[in-house]
Amino acid sequence: NYRCRSAFKLLEIDDKHQILRPGLSVIDCGAAPGAWSQVAVQRVNATGADSNAPVGFVLGVDLLRIPPLEGAVLLSNADITDPSTLRKIEKLLPTDKADLILSDMAPNATGIRDLDHEKLIHLCLSLLDLSQSILRLGGTLLCKFWDGRESHLLQKRLMENFRVVRSIKPHASRKDSSEMYYLAKLYREEEKPQKG
Ligand code: SAM
Repeated sequence: NYRCRSAFKLLEIDDKHQILRPGLSVIDCGAAPGAWSQVAVQRVNATGADSNAPVGFVLGVDLLRIPPLEGAVLLSNADITDPSTLRKIEKLLPTDKADLILSDMAPNATGIRDLDHEKLIHLCLSLLDLSQSILRLGGTLLCKFWDGRESHLLQKRLMENFRVVRSIKPHASRKDSSEMYYLAKLYREEEKPQKG
């Protein structure tokens, strides 16, 4: 049983794009109440339920309180844009850097569509800045945004930092919402030098 229907969006995206697998180290930003973290714990084998597969790691971070979840390390009451949160994340990560950053973060919506759109784009941009410290070379970022006139700015910044960037509209998202996701792969991985 998942804590929230949002789980189905991540399941759908992962079924199609295979971003979660046993052994990966994942940071889930905007994790409360914890449905995405539940999916991540299962799929990276964070509890070691599958004794034949590598054991992964999940760190959930949110402004709000995230109720305890077996297999996940949780950082509640933490603002991802606050530098002290970065230091806490670095301390909690068992590996030097994470393989995958998930973000289903959303600011409190005012209902003014353009304003909400801009706020979320800026939140995604600060997450991209943070990636420099916590995402490994070749790593993956999945982030939610509300589509609008500044989406291309975020897309451009992602394309400067990742080799592959695609936008995704999950079927599990409400049809009338502007909610979408960017999936960015191969963080700052250099092109293979050409021979000859
Ligand atoms: N993926 C979650 C799940 O499946 O349970 C649902 C996430 S909910 C749509 C968005 C979350 O983003 C909220 O819990 C909110 O508190 C969090 N959030 C918004 N701004 C944040 C920030 N600056 N730092 C950390 N979390 C933030």
